Amino acid sequence: MIDSFGRNITYMRISVTDLCNLRCLYCMPESGIEKRPHRDIISVEEIGAIARAAAKCGIKKIRLTGGEPLVRRGIIDICRLISATDGIEELCITTNGILLPKYAEQLRDAGVMRINFSLDTLDPDRYRQISRIGSLSDALAGLDAAIEMGFSPIKINAVLIGGVNDDEIGRFAELTRDRDIHVRYIELMPMGDSADWSSEHYLPGTAVLDALPALEPAGVEGVAQRYRLPGYKGTVGIITPVSSHFCGQCNRIRVTADGKLKTCLHSAPETNLRGLSEEELEDTLRAAILAKPWTHSLDGGAFSETARNMNEIGG
Ligand code: SAM
Ligand code: SF4
Repeated sequence: MIDSFGRNITYMRISVTDLCNLRCLYCMPESGIEKRPHRDIISVEEIGAIARAAAKCGIKKIRLTGGEPLVRRGIIDICRLISATDGIEELCITTNGILLPKYAEQLRDAGVMRINFSLDTLDPDRYRQISRIGSLSDALAGLDAAIEMGFSPIKINAVLIGGVNDDEIGRFAELTRDRDIHVRYIELMPMGDSADWSSEHYLPGTAVLDALPALEPAGVEGVAQRYRLPGYKGTVGIITPVSSHFCGQCNRIRVTADGKLKTCLHSAPETNLRGLSEEELEDTLRAAILAKPWTHSLDGGAFSETARNMNEIGG
């Protein structure tokens, strides 16, 4: 449906858990988070009902995220329910990939069409430093499993962190030489644990263009500006939520793992979606979409207004 500013809202991201098998520096506290009682997290049935109501409001694409969506019990049932929902044309998942060797085939069979893979470094020691507890070889095994199951194109999302992984921009771009891989750099957003990091860690997306002057524009894909190295098969994308926000084209809404609707990632307002009939759910979604803010507060170095860490919202 069209919101008050003429934007067509067609995309919903659902965080199916706030738990994760990694502890990325910019996303989760080092100690992890306290496991909430089961009843505090939206159930498989609730997710199904939210998807049906959302489809009636014009949502066509759903992305499952987290925390790590693949640690959620019932993730395959959730995928089956959503992909069988009338009106939902596209089901995608964003994952750190660690559990893909176990789940890639089941995800494909349950109707997942695309996988976005989060990977910030190709260096094993650095991977451990950023994820605190993960291993690069496990993540790469997940990437291989997704490719083997025929997921294509593969998108790799890397958070650009000054002084941490900005020396790997060329190395990541090399992944696009012969394969239909799309590497997308996302600007680090000042929220949760990363909110008080010093400014040298916050690089604008243009740092990618500075590092790879041979990049040629290759159009726009969703919120990413795409580029390609001459003769390369895949692309390099830049996503700039901080230096140049794309609120005017924002077509998305989000549901948190505890069942709150957020119509803007960086704004504070949330709307409860739990304990509602399907009719009430649809009415609530429609009203919230109409009240979706025009823009968020991140401009000019301001902090995100959301009180949540990214693992609760899903990015
Ligand atoms: N665990 C899954 C994963 O990592 O792909 C899904 C959830 S994770 C919160 C979704 C995306 O948000 C990841 O690509 C992650 O890198 C990104 N993210 C988390 N915190 C961020 C931050 N402060 N700034 C920019 N991106 C962030
Ligand atoms: Fe987990 Fe994804 Fe957050 Fe990393 S970015 S801690 S993998 S939820």
